[in-house]
Amino acid sequence: MDLNQVKKRERFYKNNSFIFGNKDETNQWPLGKQSHIDVSECPICLESFVEKEKLVRLKCLHVYHEDCLEALLRYRTECSLCKKSIDI
Ligand SMILES: [Zn+2]
Ligand SMILES: [Zn+2]
Repeated sequence: MDLNQVKKRERFYKNNSFIFGNKDETNQWPLGKQSHIDVSECPICLESFVEKEKLVRLKCLHVYHEDCLEALLRYRTECSLCKKSIDI
C-alpha cells in the first residue's frame, strides 16, 4: 500500500468512524430513517454492536467494526452486504 493510499484511508476513518452509543454523536448515526438496513450487528464477525465500540460507516451506510473492516479490506474492497465498492 503506498503512502497516498494510507493517507486516504486515515482520512476515511477519521470522517466515518464513530463510537456506538455515544450520545454526542447521535446525529451521525443513520438509524431510524434507514430501517431497511440492519445496523445492529457487524457483517463480518456477526457480533452485536456494544456500547463504546469503534465502528465505521461506509458510503452505502452499512456499519462494521473498525477492526473487522480493516480485515475485510485486506482481501477485498467491496461491502460484504451490498457488494458496493469501498472507495478507500
Ligand atoms: Zn465485527
Ligand atoms: Zn453495503
